[in-house]
Parts: sequence; structure tokens; C-alpha cells
Amino acid sequence: MNKERKLIVAGNWKMNKTVAEALALVSDLKLELANVKEVDIVVCPPFTALCEVSKAILDSNLRLGAQNMSENNAGAYTGEICAGMLKEFSVRYVILGHSERRQYQKESDALISKKALAAHAASLKPIMCVGETLAERVASQTEKVLETQVRGSLAGLSKEQMEETIVAYEPVWAIGSGKTATTRQAQDAHAFIRQRLAEMFDETVARRVRIQYGGSVKPANARELMSQPDVDGALVGGAALEPRSFAEIIKNSI
Ligand code: PEP
Repeated sequence: MNKERKLIVAGNWKMNKTVAEALALVSDLKLELANVKEVDIVVCPPFTALCEVSKAILDSNLRLGAQNMSENNAGAYTGEICAGMLKEFSVRYVILGHSERRQYQKESDALISKKALAAHAASLKPIMCVGETLAERVASQTEKVLETQVRGSLAGLSKEQMEETIVAYEPVWAIGSGKTATTRQAQDAHAFIRQRLAEMFDETVARRVRIQYGGSVKPANARELMSQPDVDGALVGGAALEPRSFAEIIKNSI
């Protein structure tokens, strides 16, 4: 597939996989994906598996991501993990503002933007998640919600930082539901986000930023979604837990 930007496909394992299971998964992925050069491939295991997975993928084309981090650098924040700790394991990406954290941990755009700045300060590339709920889509609020989330969570980033940031459009109603956005819905939302980036930064930055689609991506729908001009990859949940389906999504995207 001839794309303007290099595709990036990330697997968000969420709260799944023991260390042994994580190692088995990456061992299979390394074999399945060894020859793929056209796509940046990222695996995001739980914190507990980062150390071992980091060692296991050293000699491969897989890159490591974390699923969250603190906006603070150190100190009395019980249970939190900071950017410097992630860097110890050669983590390169960090998912921020996932809808599950927005919902269950009540993360706000203001907090997510602080995390993004802390990530960049440590040279971690944030994957910034935005997306509307079903109620918001039904009420024709999708663009309003995306505008608020994009402007709020990316506030304060420099142009250089924005170019090193990935945005993930993840309609909440499509996550884990088996319902995927149509290619039209995905392309419209991605183009809308890119226009906002052009307004906030400039046209060049907007053209360079990669925008992933997330929400029930599977081998069967990956090619169609990725063929859209403003869809530059995928953030994959459930299908990233099995080596075959994650590898097929990547191969079908090329
Ligand atoms: C996600 O949680 O980021 C996600 C896209 O999940 P799924 O692929 O399972 O819908």
C-alpha cells in the first residue's frame, strides 16, 4: 500500500498476560513479523512484563510501548510509574488517555496533556487516544468531542513534539465491541483531527503526524481501514493478544 506516512500498528495488551505468556507471544510475533519493514510495530504489555519483553525483542523489529505513565517524575505517588522508569526498559512509546483510563480513572484532557509533556521530556513518543462514546455519536457530538479532546490533550506541545506524537482515534463504541467504524466514519474523523492539528500547529506538522484507528480492528477489516488516506495505522486491543491475528493485521495493512 502506498502511504504518505509510515504505518504504525500498536498492540495494547491491557491487563492481560503473565510474564511467561508475554514472552511466548513476542517469541511468535518475532517469527511471524521478522521481514516486515514497512510498518512500525509496537507491543504494549502490562508494566510487569516490560523488563522481560524488552530483553526478548532487543534483536527484532518490534518496539516497546507502555500503557500509561505518571505526569510526575518521582516522589510520593504510591502505585505510579514515571517516564524515567519506563526508559530503563527501553520503552519508546506510551499510550496516554485511553478511553478506559478516561472512564475508570477519570483522566481529564488537562491531566493527559501533562503526561504528554512529561513523556516528551523523557523522549518517549505518546500515543494520544481520543474518541466519542455512542451517546455522543448519536447526538451528533462527535466533532465537538474530538475537538475538545484534541485541543485539550495536545495543549502546550511544541511543533517538534507534535511531530513525534501519534494520535489514536478510538470511537469508544467500537472498542472491544466487535463493531468497527465504517471506513467513511474513520476517514472523516481522521481528516477532522488532522484539520484541527493544522489549526493548532501548522499544515506541515498536520501532514506529518500519524493518526491510528482503534476499535475492533481485525485481520479482515485492517486493509480497508488502512487504505483510507488519513488512516496511518492501528491501535489494536483484543486481536493483539494472539500472535496470528496481530501479525495478520500488520501484513494485511502493507
Ligand atoms: C483498544 O482498547 O485500544 C482497542 C482498540 O481494543 P479492541 O481492538 O479490542 O477494540
